[in-house]
Amino acid sequence: MECVICGKGCERVEGFNFCTKCGVELIDDEREGELGRRLQEVTAAREALEKQRAEGQIGDAAYCPIASTLAKDSQQGEAELEAIEQKRKRLRAEWVYKMLDNAEQMLGQGNLESASAAAQKVIQFDPTNTATHMTMARILNSQGRLEDAIWAARYAQGLDPSNIQIEEYVGQLELLYQGKPQTGVKQLFA
Ligand SMILES: [Zn+2]
Repeated sequence: MECVICGKGCERVEGFNFCTKCGVELIDDEREGELGRRLQEVTAAREALEKQRAEGQIGDAAYCPIASTLAKDSQQGEAELEAIEQKRKRLRAEWVYKMLDNAEQMLGQGNLESASAAAQKVIQFDPTNTATHMTMARILNSQGRLEDAIWAARYAQGLDPSNIQIEEYVGQLELLYQGKPQTGVKQLFA
């Protein structure tokens, strides 16, 4: 069983299938491997069957039912693999959403260290998530680290250049920075 967040492999435990580190439901990657192997076998069997037919070793009466069974096997396997992949995506997205929500709540409560830790975890996991960089920018701004906040917001802007809200926020931070050179911010650049 595999954790889609930390990649930790866990043994299957009956009645409990969550990563003890991330709290995320585990994916049955053994089943996935099994399905992958089964699909390879089916593909090989189909190829062999086509060859036999092309060489005239079997007639349509023998060919059709086997081909139909193999096609069904292959479809079922692919559908199950696709469902596992979808579940993996869903679990990842849910985790990111939850962590980001936690970070936002902690930011709202003024619990900046914890908010920052949560946001950093998400950034490590998915560096391309624009919303996380924006949350990080707001946390840094609340921490009084204006230069870092601008950097984080600009990073988000680089990921999503057409986003007006991000553009506005970068502008606000830059104004704040320009307007407060004598209140300690300047020292950050010294
Ligand atoms: Zn985990």
